[in-house]
Amino acid sequence: MSITVRAPAKINLHLGVGAPRADGFHPLVTVYQALGLCDDVTVTPSATWTLAVTVPDWMDADAVPAAGDNIVDAAARLLAEHHGIASQAAVSITKSIPVAGGMAGGSADAAAALVALDRLWELGTHDDDLLRIAAELGSDVPFALLGGTALGTGRGERVERLPDPTTWWWVVVPSAQGLSTPAVYRRFDELSPDTPAEPTDARAVLLALSTGNPEILAGALHNDLESAALDLRPDLADLLELGESSGALRGLVSGSGPTCVFLTPDADAARGVAARLSEHHDVVLVTNGPVAGAHAVSYG
Ligand code: ATP
Repeated sequence: MSITVRAPAKINLHLGVGAPRADGFHPLVTVYQALGLCDDVTVTPSATWTLAVTVPDWMDADAVPAAGDNIVDAAARLLAEHHGIASQAAVSITKSIPVAGGMAGGSADAAAALVALDRLWELGTHDDDLLRIAAELGSDVPFALLGGTALGTGRGERVERLPDPTTWWWVVVPSAQGLSTPAVYRRFDELSPDTPAEPTDARAVLLALSTGNPEILAGALHNDLESAALDLRPDLADLLELGESSGALRGLVSGSGPTCVFLTPDADAARGVAARLSEHHDVVLVTNGPVAGAHAVSYG
């Protein structure tokens, strides 16, 4: 028996960041969107725990932690502990989501592993328990389960589905070198010592989503971490400018970066922007959102 579960990358259409809380986490008000750039996690029965990772040729395989340190190990452990069973399976991750790219690829793998192992071990875990375990694994993991477009609050782990009937077309440009999320938050704290406790609200993006108009959404996109990411990676400013002068409605650093995403008017425009960016960047991807959260794509 083998089960493959697919889980999407996320971008933040709005990322409002408040001053750090007493527990060290930054309070967030964010609007997540799941993009059609996905990792697959395949699980098969095994008497021991094994983990294999496959990456596309443009990705550095060494950037993905091996068994023992991978977030998928932690996902398996928490799920098994919840049910009082041993965590044994042969797991294989096929990556497409940039590593340390601000697109929550590790979180996607954790969510996919929870869904896949729940089926493999025939646990029938209640959705609420799965979401709680997901939140323990990381702030972005609950959203990777949910998918679509959602409002995230708390440290991003409290998710609430949002209506978003439009298909939005994006061009995604990963970076060869990842950025550490904690380092970007540290830089944010240094650059913005007077940040209010309450993060900026997502009203403009919520309104834009309801119009279905990409030009209006482009004007509403907001990322409080962008200046910190650009401070650590000044080269990204040139990339954002190049995308916008190549026909994108707006370029944005994805979450903590360094991946940059470009909103375009439609599929044809996205392909045009991607063609022009490809003259300067090795890896340029065209995708759309919103797409489904972690779901089985093969079972048998
Ligand atoms: P964050 O979720 O912290 O915003 P990110 O989206 O920028 O992170 P990820 O691809 O999730 O980036 O990777 C963050 C770190 O998580 C990596 O540097 C890596 O060391 C670790 N990691 C653990 N498991 C995985 C995995 N399955 N895939 C990718 N990275 C993983």
